[in-house]
Amino acid sequence: VSRILTLGETMGLLTGSRIGSLAHVSEAHVGIGGAETNVAVGLSRLGVPVTWIGRVGDDSLGRRVVREVRGEGVDVRAQLDPAAATGLMVKERTGPGTSRVYYYRAGSAGSRLAAADVPAGLVESVGLVHLTGITPLLSDSAREACLSVVRRARAAGVRVSVDVNYRSTLAPADVAAKVLGELVGEADLVFGSPEELAYGVPGGVADDSSAIDELARALDPTGAREIVVKRGADGASTYTGGTVVHAPGHRVDVVDTVGAGDAFVAGYLSGDVQGWSVEEKLARANACGAVMCTTPGDWEAAPTPAELEAFLGADGDPVQ
Ligand code: ATP
Repeated sequence: VSRILTLGETMGLLTGSRIGSLAHVSEAHVGIGGAETNVAVGLSRLGVPVTWIGRVGDDSLGRRVVREVRGEGVDVRAQLDPAAATGLMVKERTGPGTSRVYYYRAGSAGSRLAAADVPAGLVESVGLVHLTGITPLLSDSAREACLSVVRRARAAGVRVSVDVNYRSTLAPADVAAKVLGELVGEADLVFGSPEELAYGVPGGVADDSSAIDELARALDPTGAREIVVKRGADGASTYTGGTVVHAPGHRVDVVDTVGAGDAFVAGYLSGDVQGWSVEEKLARANACGAVMCTTPGDWEAAPTPAELEAFLGADGDPVQ
């Protein structure tokens, strides 16, 4: 199985121990999280060799990020940046299975990611590069790092995957559309919700995301790419080669949906680097996403192949 390379920001994560505003809840769980390392851990659990590049501060949370991600078997190439702190996410539990996240990441070490942080020869040596739309919106240097990795991948014939993952707190829609469109335009595999995919279409943000068939066609005029639409509990669809393959979601008792999208992407990419069909990739991705919904935590419960087998009975439906 060929190696996957990803890069981006991973932060400390404080989660309120119970439902309620953090103005009053007095205990919190300390962890870490970031979309790209969530995917990296998911891939590692599924047996895919994976490298993550990022910056953390020279502080306790930074050391925790490095130790935990490395402890999951990910090849971590992290710079300890003495000039800035590790970013922080604070998660407030708003109800059973729902939460609100606050970001303390402006000027963080992770946002200072730069093209020079990616060692010469690394991009060229992997089978696939995975980026999210979060990283290029962190800073000019992080955007340049993404574009440089994409250029290097394309020059070397390495596949490029992009999860649009639009975060409105990072940039207004019109700015995001320009930056994300640039990245999406170079990707072989594009992941997003119907709303997010609109950001990848040249000319800016489409206001009718229900026209997903047209959006997918606009994103893939030659039919050579895979446009993967994440539809939450309804599952997912891949548009490629002028056709669409839909795979329904699994019915599960939802505990916390955060991280389902990243687990889904890890599942899909794990099949992609093994040459699986679109149907097989969607089936694994939906199972990974569903499993993640049944447990708290953004990445901790990312499933192994054995856990996926246990989740899916012989008939391919979840074992109740
Ligand atoms: P995230 O909250 O991680 O950013 P996302 O918006 O990127 O998620 P979703 O479409 O919510 O992505 O979920 C990704 C995948 O996870 C879905 O395509 C599906 O396979 C699975 N999934 C999500 N929610 C549910 C659910 N309630 N029940 C079953 N499967 C789900």
